[in-house]
Amino acid sequence: MADPVPAHPALASGAVAVVTGGASGIGLAAAARFAARGLKVAIADLPGEKLEAAAAHLAGIAPGGTADVLAVATDVSELSDIERLEAEVAERFGGTDVLLNNAGIQPGSALFGPLENWEKVIAVNLWGIILGSRVFGPKMIARGRPGLIVNTGSKQGITTPPGDPAYNVSKAGVKVFTEALAHELRNIEGCAVTAHLFIPGFVFTPLAAGGRTEKPAGAWTAEQTVDFMLERLEAGDFYILCPDNDVTRALDQKRIAWAAGDIIANRPPLSRWHKDYAAAFAAFVKGD
Ligand code: NAD
Repeated sequence: MADPVPAHPALASGAVAVVTGGASGIGLAAAARFAARGLKVAIADLPGEKLEAAAAHLAGIAPGGTADVLAVATDVSELSDIERLEAEVAERFGGTDVLLNNAGIQPGSALFGPLENWEKVIAVNLWGIILGSRVFGPKMIARGRPGLIVNTGSKQGITTPPGDPAYNVSKAGVKVFTEALAHELRNIEGCAVTAHLFIPGFVFTPLAAGGRTEKPAGAWTAEQTVDFMLERLEAGDFYILCPDNDVTRALDQKRIAWAAGDIIANRPPLSRWHKDYAAAFAAFVKGD
């Protein structure tokens, strides 16, 4: 089935999209969708063959071929790399209309485990989106055109399940930063750039594969997730809360409400995973 004609000008043919973490998974799927719609696409990822291969793949999709695709070796946790990325895109394509701050890592972490993991995860997942938004944002506003800044968060930054605290902290920061960004942008007179929090469910990508070579039944593909994101961007959603094959929107809503309810009901934090509250949470989900 052909893609619907996009209504948002930033998602229309001829616009310019920048995707960090664009050499793999969700980022590559987004870049491919953008290229197929006739956007000029810049992918930013760590240097190497994966980045080159992704650029070649995208050039095969883009109507203008290699002329419409730019690959920029970038470490999103480095301010100078992000500044260079913005400048290269501006020089090549004239500016940016869509910024998908999506690069992320999940090497695992333990609360009292190696500090290095904490530093790395927060540098890439949180500083990457802060730097990207701060460097590109003012230039996108000055361009005077409708624009989109989409930051990839996670349900793990909202319901914060135990097991990977550094990742949760980084993604909770992405949520808070992006909410503040949306508020900031909507209060700038004449600003046509909006911010959006993209919250994937379980998506089968190298980051989440955990050694699996086949997509588990519960996961969505990266393409499904990106199609959902595009549909919700067209609808104007700020919170782009994606389901997957295991978790419906209704279940997500219950989990989010329960997490917020920990404060309101003065329960212990993460009570969803506390043995004394297991029955109450199960009943809440069932709707009792
Ligand atoms: P992925 O590993 O396929 O893609 C992530 C990309 O980011 C890779 O190409 C990697 O090289 C790149 N990257 C890593 N560090 C970087 C750096 N310092 N600078 C530039 N690029 C860097 O994983 P994915 O699942 O597509 O992840 C994309 C985003 O989606 C991440 O932010 C991830 O946290 C988020 N997410 C994924 C899932 C899931 O189930 N896959 C769920 C929720 C959120």
